[in-house]
Amino acid sequence: MEKQKPRAILHSDANCFYASCEMVLNPSLRNKPVAVCGSQEDRHGIVLAKSELAKKCGITTGMTNREALSRCPNLVIVPPRFEYYSKFSKLLHEIYGRYTDLIEPFGLDECWLDVTDSIKSPMEIAEEIRQAVKDELGLTVSIGVSFNKAFAKLGSDMKKPDAITEITPENFRVKVWPLPCSDLLYCGRATSAKLEACNITTIGKLAMLPRDIIESKLGKNGGMLWDFANGLDNSPVAHKDRRVPPKSISHGITCVENLVNYEEVEKVIIKLSQDVGYKLRQEKMCARGVSLSVKDEKLNYFSFQERLEKEVQDESRIAKAVCELFKKSYRWFFNVRAITVGAISLVPEGDAIQIDIFNDYSKDEKRKKLFATIDQINDTYGKRSIQPATVLDEKKMPQPKSTHSPENEFDNPISDIEVKLPGMFYRGEKDKK
Ligand SMILES: [Mg+2]
Repeated sequence: MEKQKPRAILHSDANCFYASCEMVLNPSLRNKPVAVCGSQEDRHGIVLAKSELAKKCGITTGMTNREALSRCPNLVIVPPRFEYYSKFSKLLHEIYGRYTDLIEPFGLDECWLDVTDSIKSPMEIAEEIRQAVKDELGLTVSIGVSFNKAFAKLGSDMKKPDAITEITPENFRVKVWPLPCSDLLYCGRATSAKLEACNITTIGKLAMLPRDIIESKLGKNGGMLWDFANGLDNSPVAHKDRRVPPKSISHGITCVENLVNYEEVEKVIIKLSQDVGYKLRQEKMCARGVSLSVKDEKLNYFSFQERLEKEVQDESRIAKAVCELFKKSYRWFFNVRAITVGAISLVPEGDAIQIDIFNDYSKDEKRKKLFATIDQINDTYGKRSIQPATVLDEKKMPQPKSTHSPENEFDNPISDIEVKLPGMFYRGEKDKK
């Protein structure tokens, strides 16, 4: 019997992505330590990303701007410009698209590629991609080349920046097994702590134990990690056109001044709900629940959620549910600094309509038409061209950074909204370690 050809999977990770984009956009930043940080004035002052040089000065992600500057006084701080980063991300995908249609993104700066069916060897393709990204975009990538996604991802972390690492069925025991378990995809802080408590410190140790022991300790996730450690990850790379329906949609802000009473909170919730409703309609999803997170002036953080009796899509209903949740759940000891409104337990629009003999569907239909019209006007004339009169005097939300112009392809009126896709939870956990 003919032995099945191993798959050829690449994982390409753009190095110091946000900071590198900024250096391409502004070449005078090259050779300076650069950090992309939330701005001081809307009080989001933490490091979101740093350049290679800044990293050498001891700058880490999540550090406050003040800490960063004290550690590296000549650090250049720039505000984030996500619209540009997503443009660069698209350009990276264009380069990957020269080799395959199986391109699965993992955040803005990382992608898996399946090049099994290509005539060129995977190492040849990786080398061409590395060079093309450098020549055409002025960015660098680290690429892992392997026979599955988990090892390809691991490979891209092994040598940085501007490097290629190959992990084969022959060499993975030598290359991968000495590494700590936390280097494995989806092995977050909590999981690696549990493994460490059992003295399972390396990927090799994990691989050598019987699978059911790991599974009994860590559940399904443990079995998956054991498969990864043994090179048995056979999850496919998705097609580039695959649309993953989001699991939740949320929008949050840190206010320019603390909110001192319920009326002010209500206005911010209404405005945030508008953005969530807009995005829900774009995604053609309805929410079966809402979530609310609140950060008070002492930086205490609270988060609440609630299921709804009926699916919602329109913002007035979301706002109403979230306001009620706030009144019911938030105990006002301190003023409010930041609020996030979320739509959770999302279902596709079509699935959401339940037959209910008491429901007046003509009213629902009218509301739908109304919101479609409002969205159209806001798309054409700019976000919040139409909004409820009750929020017109709202002044504590940060002003949008740029004015909307429909001609500008970089300008996405909803770019500051977070859409959580399945799997992104793991990424967050991984990044925090
Ligand atoms: Mg990266």
